[in-house]
Amino acid sequence: MHSSQRDFHRVVAIDGPAASGKSSVARALARRLGFVYVNSGAIYRAITWHLLKNGIHTEEIDRISEALESAAITSRIGDGESHIVIDYVDPADHLRDDRVNQSVAHVSRFPLVREIVAQKLHEHARSEDLVVEGRDIGSVVFPDTPYKFYVDASPEVRLQRRAAQGERDEIALRDHADFSRLVSPLVIAEDAHVIDTSHLTVEKVVHEILTRLQETGLRIQTI
Ligand code: C5P
Repeated sequence: MHSSQRDFHRVVAIDGPAASGKSSVARALARRLGFVYVNSGAIYRAITWHLLKNGIHTEEIDRISEALESAAITSRIGDGESHIVIDYVDPADHLRDDRVNQSVAHVSRFPLVREIVAQKLHEHARSEDLVVEGRDIGSVVFPDTPYKFYVDASPEVRLQRRAAQGERDEIALRDHADFSRLVSPLVIAEDAHVIDTSHLTVEKVVHEILTRLQETGLRIQTI
């Protein structure tokens, strides 16, 4: 069933590649607006972690499909953020494990997986105003929202940011997989406002987004 934006509360979409700065920006923006922050990448990561934990290889679509049919994927809102819970376990501490970093872009290419994540995001948007970060939020999941942003940064800055977080993350490989997959690849939605965050602080980017949101007609009561 196709849902339209009329079925949803307000959604600000923040898309962009790995380490572009979108998580810090989306979280800070959500706080300022009083909207719930949703990291859609965390849902793909939670699903990937669940599959790996159950010994399912990320190429085995039949087993993936079976495992996801029987998994209880829910979320809870705490501290203004949505937290994913899968089979009653909160996988937050494992979402950035090396093996999840290595496998998540494989798992997220399956239409079945993308459909599950999109449904979760739609469910959320039926009851809350959201800031959602991801890869296809403005282009596919909420194509009718008027509030779309695409944040990017130079490859050098993105690598430095990941290194500063102390993570081993082959972002070039993930980028390649995310840009080239057949279903919902990372694209800049036609009506998205593009921001290069390479030389901007989080505060500056949030300010630019808030200004743009106001121009687009969002009545803002920052908190
Ligand atoms: O945002 P983050 O880097 O944590 O996302 C992890 C992975 O999840 C991405 O590399 C991508 O493969 C997948 N993803 C996606 N669509 C989204 C969000 C994340 O395919 N909307």
